[in-house]
Amino acid sequence: MKEGVIASHFGVAVVIEEASRERVLLRVKRKSGLVVGDSVFFDSRIQNIAARKNILARQTDHGIQEIAANLDLLGIVVAPLPRTPQSFIDLAIVAALHQGIRPVIIINKADLVEHAEFETSLRKIFGADISIFATSTTTNDGIEALKNFLNKHGRALFIGVSGSGKSSLVNTLVPDAGLDIGNLAPTDSHGKHVTTVSTLHHVDGGSELIDTPGIRDFRIASVQPVELAALFVGFAQWLKVPCRFRNCLHDHEPGCSIRQAVSDLHIEKSRYEIYLELLRASKQI
Ligand code: GDP
Ligand code: ZN
Repeated sequence: MKEGVIASHFGVAVVIEEASRERVLLRVKRKSGLVVGDSVFFDSRIQNIAARKNILARQTDHGIQEIAANLDLLGIVVAPLPRTPQSFIDLAIVAALHQGIRPVIIINKADLVEHAEFETSLRKIFGADISIFATSTTTNDGIEALKNFLNKHGRALFIGVSGSGKSSLVNTLVPDAGLDIGNLAPTDSHGKHVTTVSTLHHVDGGSELIDTPGIRDFRIASVQPVELAALFVGFAQWLKVPCRFRNCLHDHEPGCSIRQAVSDLHIEKSRYEIYLELLRASKQI
């Protein structure tokens, strides 16, 4: 039996990559449960899926969608224009930390004049806890530094709101991204290659980058309301003093350490409001 990683998923077929980088196309059942990043054992068909280190999933209107497995990094691609909402960054960080995936913020469009002020504000909020990179796919500033960081950490997946430059960044880091899987893709009844929702690419220098062109929005999946505060950037230090209620959601409860820190101005009101926004979202699942 051979061993490999799911490098691309087409719904009815997957591309498996072996350690030698040889890639094979295998048919699978439509609800195979496999995602890009899964390690599998196979011969003429997939026999076994290795236990996952982690799984990144998102909430959709139709339920939970698993996106990719066995990640080391979640690259959160943001831009000053169109300005990425801060709550998106927080949401992505919580989702990553919940799965034991290291989040990294990539502030793209460093060539724009609006970038400096945006970077300063994000460094102030997230800089003590999260690695931050500034990049420009127009001037290539910061690309080498980001590449070196990726190559130190293994397998990454990038997410970003539409227009942040996520596709440009993937294409800069993996110049042949559009080509390396194309000839293996199954064809439809018209002979056209079926498009994939996500693909694993190799970055020059050793790391892997999973591209998910089909995935635009990102809603948190499976984080319980009571787990949220401990994952929220800037809250940890104020949670050291226990709230009166052990299962406090830091919403309206009396004797709450977080609410105390807000009224003492240790936590900015705007940060607390984003927390409440995420809390509401986590309750809706
Ligand atoms: P995506 O929607 O996040 O995949 O973003 P795209 O890669 O399609 O880029 C959205 C727009 O931003 C396009 O017009 C790009 O040319 C532009 N863009 C991407 N990276 C940069 C950058 O570093 N600087 C500037 N000024 N524009 C960029
Ligand atoms: Zn509390």
